[in-house]
Amino acid sequence: MQILVLNSGSSSLKHQLFALSDGELTKLDRGSIECIGEGNAQVHCHADALALVFEQLERASECDPRELVGIGHRVVHGGDLFDHPVLIDDRVIRGIREAIPLAPLHNPPALAGIDAARTLRPDLPQVAVFDTAFHQTLPSHALRYALPAWCYEKYGIRRYGMHGISHAFVSRRAAELLDRQPADVNVITFHLGNGASAAAIAGGRCVETSMGMTPLEGLVMGTRCGDLDPSVPMFLYREAGMTVAEVDRLLSHDSGLKGLCGSNDLRAILQRAKRGHSDAELALQIYCHRLKKYLGAYFAILGRVDAVVFTAGVGENSPEIRRSACDGLDLIGIRLDEERNLAVRRGQASDVSANGSPVRVFVIPTDEEAEIARRSLEVMGLDSTEHPPRKKPSL
Ligand code: ADP
Repeated sequence: MQILVLNSGSSSLKHQLFALSDGELTKLDRGSIECIGEGNAQVHCHADALALVFEQLERASECDPRELVGIGHRVVHGGDLFDHPVLIDDRVIRGIREAIPLAPLHNPPALAGIDAARTLRPDLPQVAVFDTAFHQTLPSHALRYALPAWCYEKYGIRRYGMHGISHAFVSRRAAELLDRQPADVNVITFHLGNGASAAAIAGGRCVETSMGMTPLEGLVMGTRCGDLDPSVPMFLYREAGMTVAEVDRLLSHDSGLKGLCGSNDLRAILQRAKRGHSDAELALQIYCHRLKKYLGAYFAILGRVDAVVFTAGVGENSPEIRRSACDGLDLIGIRLDEERNLAVRRGQASDVSANGSPVRVFVIPTDEEAEIARRSLEVMGLDSTEHPPRKKPSL
């Protein structure tokens, strides 16, 4: 059987087709249609884009439309309505629509993708897999801000967390690498891409995460500032005469690494720092200082930590960032092995901790599409294996 995973962005549609056989997922066709509805684009909307994807799939020899059993959709924000993936019906669509104010850039295109898929293939079950769902286990003391109750009760102002699909996937892989059940391990995961977040996971349940009501809170990111004194926006309105929209743009698009040194591409920043550019050096120091701050805080919250996991573009590919984040943490049991740290091969899970390090440090490639495929098949009752078949952990 085959399952299609769709990730609908504001002007893009990404797809990945999987085959499931004997509990193993195999990747088949994947692709991305960009610039939907932009300027003189030929693809005007998500429905056109999806029709193109199906044409493409029919031409690809490995795809068999009769084998397709369903479609899994990535949905960024499920508000507090969804704590697990769900079969899409009109009620679910209403729920995703209700969460639009919390993710105004992400939920509308997800709805466009879902609508296109339901129209084009009404015969197939469709599943919504939410980025926020994994964090719905946050206890009240972690999800509430120290604001009057009406902010939460009337407006839903609380911490939701994002990147949950990735944190769930890599934390489960970490348990496999430790050869233990997820319920028996405590893990700190760092998803470091353009957006970046950390999660503290106790026995498979997320108990703390760095993103908040929106993806702006927490770590330093490519273009987002992360944690900030909440008075700064008011100061900018008053003293710099900026508008709400201008401050919004500054904090989300012109801050983070880009704001500090002009680039959000960590590779370029590392090279500029090597050549002695002080703004790039400072940007890296601020980025890694924030990582370490969260690492320490999540240690305090979890009490016992079995593994720290680095994933996504920066986490998987930058030995320098992993080294700086873990530097000087021997006392809390984190010891990196520099040779292993430098020898990580792209796309492979690696243990980069020193022999005898009480806390293992793993680099685990994330695979959000595979996670969406597996969760969708589970919801459809077509995959009863909670986890991929357990092989001897390979590093
Ligand atoms: P997105 O959130 O857009 O999916 P990615 O997970 O692809 O982001 O991560 C993008 C980030 O990863 C960029 O800052 C990029 O510079 C960084 N990156 C990719 N490859 C490397 C590398 N080899 N070394 C350091 N950083 C890298």
